[in-house]
Amino acid sequence: MPLLIHQFAIGSDNLGILIHDQSTGRTASIDAGEEAPILQAVKETGWTLTDLFITHHHGDHIAALQPLKERFGARVVAPAADAHRIPAIDVAVREGDEVQLGETGFTIFETPGHTSGHIAYYSAEAKVVFAGDTLFSMGCGRLFEGTPHEMWTSLSKLARLPDETLLYCGHEYTLSNASFALRYDAGNAALQKRAQAVEALRAKGEFTIPSTIGLEKATNPFLRAAELDLARAVGLAGHPAVEVFAALRDAKNKG
Ligand SMILES: [Zn+2]
Repeated sequence: MPLLIHQFAIGSDNLGILIHDQSTGRTASIDAGEEAPILQAVKETGWTLTDLFITHHHGDHIAALQPLKERFGARVVAPAADAHRIPAIDVAVREGDEVQLGETGFTIFETPGHTSGHIAYYSAEAKVVFAGDTLFSMGCGRLFEGTPHEMWTSLSKLARLPDETLLYCGHEYTLSNASFALRYDAGNAALQKRAQAVEALRAKGEFTIPSTIGLEKATNPFLRAAELDLARAVGLAGHPAVEVFAALRDAKNKG
């Protein structure tokens, strides 16, 4: 039976996600940023929270971890590399580990860059990846604890997933990401089309997430750092993709 996914807003731009394994009823919250909206989502869906799948240690992803664990007795899955700064971990995971939510399997990818311990949860059978703050639609996370090389490697890992893989992430930043992308990749027809679609979605108050890996490969400037157009846009034609990526990330930091 398919995995059901319920997405909702947390605060101004965080995205909350509940995933529900229909065969067993097990339900995970991807991250635990704020208790009230997650409780509201649990109530609306009628699901019972059994698991917390944590991507990284930032407060807007774990602030509600302990209250939710206490309330539901939920199992906490989180990166082993963050065991010193994420409380109450039950299952500490590393690259390549497999985690089950009932009958739905997930593979763990270590994706350092935004933070050193960041992980993503990928289900081949459900064709979905929960990428936290590593890969956004048309953007990527800031490099708080990693080098451009680490983040480029992490993004490249996600880009190798099948094109049809649904991409869920930690923030609804897509509209501002689109305007940045258009400044550096103006001739990209797929990007122009996606930017228009995103504007229309946001005008209606709808989420732009999920995206897909295929759509991101076609439109996300940070995944397109190996393309000559992007290298030219930052004055680095002929340079390695990781240098182009670093220049794009710097430009994004400066707004
Ligand atoms: Zn973060």
